[in-house]
This record gives sequence, C-alpha cells and structure tokens, in this order.
Amino acid sequence: MLNQTNAQPIAGGTDLLVQARTNRNRLQAFVRIDHLTELKTLEFSKNELTIGAGVTFTEYLEKASQFLLPLTEAIVLIASPSIRNTATFGGNIVNASPAADILPIFYALDAILTLESMRGVRQIPVSEFVTGAKKTSIRPDELLTAIRLNIPQNYKYVYRKIGPRKALSLSKVSFVGFYLPDTREIRLAYGSVGPTVIRAYEAEQLFREGRIPAIPDCIERAVKPITDQRSTAEYRRYLCRALTQVFLSRYIKNF
Ligand SMILES: Cc1cc2nc3c(=O)[nH]c(=O)nc-3n(C[C@H](O)[C@H](O)[C@H](O)COP(=O)(O)OP(=O)(O)OC[C@H]3O[C@@H](n4cnc5c(N)ncnc54)[C@H](O)[C@@H]3O)c2cc1C
Repeated sequence: MLNQTNAQPIAGGTDLLVQARTNRNRLQAFVRIDHLTELKTLEFSKNELTIGAGVTFTEYLEKASQFLLPLTEAIVLIASPSIRNTATFGGNIVNASPAADILPIFYALDAILTLESMRGVRQIPVSEFVTGAKKTSIRPDELLTAIRLNIPQNYKYVYRKIGPRKALSLSKVSFVGFYLPDTREIRLAYGSVGPTVIRAYEAEQLFREGRIPAIPDCIERAVKPITDQRSTAEYRRYLCRALTQVFLSRYIKNF
C-alpha cells in the first residue's frame, strides 16, 4: 500500500512525468492539483504582481503579459505552445532546475514565495527556497501557492536566453539585467551557470561604488558553469561576460 508521504503534487506534469519514466522501480503516487482555482490567482496592484503557483505559462501570456515584459519574453521562449499550455509557475520553481527560465527574473526581483500546509503559511525569498540543483526547502506536506514580485519603477532591462535552437531548447545560459535609474541600481542574474541561478551581488555593489569597468571580470569569477551536453564551461563563462557587456553598454553612459 502506498504511504501517504510518497504522494507528490502534480500540476502540469511536464517535469514530473518525464522523471517518473526514468524512475520505474519506485512506486509513485501523485495528487493532482491542476484543478485548484485557489492556485490560479493573477493580481497586479501598486507595482506588485502576484502569480498563483498553478497558473500555466499560457494563462500568464493570455491574461498578464503586459505586467512584466522580461517575464513575458522569458515565457515565450519556454518549450513550445503545447508544453506551455500545462506547465505551471509552481512546477518550474519547485523542480528547481538551474535552467528554469523564469528563475533569473524571480531572483533579480527578489520574489517571495508563499508555502502552505495544514500547519500554516510561510513566506520565503526564492533564493533561499532553492538550495541546490533540483533541491528546495519545501516540506513534504507543503504546497507552493503563490509568487509575489515587486516591480520596480521605470526599470530598463535586457533578457537573453542562449540555446541551441529558438524553440524547444534548454538554455546554455540565460541572463537578465535590470537597470533602475531612480535608485541608480543594477540587478544581474544568470541561469544554467551553477547549481542554482546566480545573482551577482558583488557586481551590483561595484556598480553602486561607480567601479563599472570591473564588473565583467567580477561576473566571470561569480559564475560556476560546467561542461555538459548543451555547452562547455568556457563558452558559458564567455557568454555571461558578453551578455553583461551588452546590458551595460546599452544603459550605462561611457561604459
Ligand atoms: C519538452 C520540454 C521542454 C521544456 N522546455 C523548458 C524550457 O525551455 N524552459 C524551462 O524553464 N523549462 C522547460 N521545461 C520544463 C517544464 O516544462 C517546466 O519546469 C514546468 O514549468 C514545470 O511545471 P509543471 O506544472 O509541469 O510541473 P510538474 O511536472 O507537475 O511538477 C514539477 C515538480 O514541482 C512539484 N510541484 C508542482 N506544483 C507544485 C506546487 N504548487 N506546490 C508544490 N510542489 C509543486 C511537483 O511535485 C514536482 O516535483 C520543458 C519540459 C519539457 C518536457
């Protein structure tokens, strides 16, 4: 008989069912959550965006694509329309792949996740929730219910996903850079170049100190790429530097 703790929530199944096929010896039980309307909220108020964990990428594109353009750009490059029809925000985050395309944007904007269980509700920054490649601090009885983002005023950005193809490809590197002219800040986040998304806090501090020419070298030190079937560590490191330079030269005078 299946133990209750073996049961895993299944939303779109686009990660879980692929994993289940390679895990044939394990008895698995899934609890469907794709019908839960409580997980389908999409709210935008006072520069804050709240996305229910059960919102699919297609639903986001249909109902909220104007709220946060870098997120929209990232989502249209995910997989294919048929995958986006079932793949959810919650599944992408809990699966915690370093190549998850929405995570760099959530890291750069310090997204806060809401997790709920019979024992209560807790809120945690996404960068603390993801503890390693495909590892999170979720507890067996918890559901991720929502993601909350503060959208900065007057932001400018560059988002890039570099992959082998335009569609149905996982990234070699993904990058988002935000420039916030009102507070003279930058935010930089990189996917697929470490066990988790890397937020370049040290480079952001160099920017605050006006040491802008030092930023590309700092990025090369901050990222921890590996060589795998999609790319080499050297090319990924080069891409991180080049994408950072593209971002800085677009928005920062005299870079
Ligand atoms: C062909 C293909 C191409 C892909 N391309 C991309 C791509 O380009 N970019 C990209 O980022 N991803 C890609 N993916 C991965 C996948 O589509 C996403 O990660 C997707 O967002 C996962 O969501 P899901 O609802 O399908 O998750 P599921 O497979 O249902 O679940 C994934 C994990 O999250 C858990 N989970 C789901 N929802 C919750 C919740 N609310 N609370 C707690 N736990 C939960 C599940 O238990 C499981 O551990 C691709 C997948 C496939 C099959």
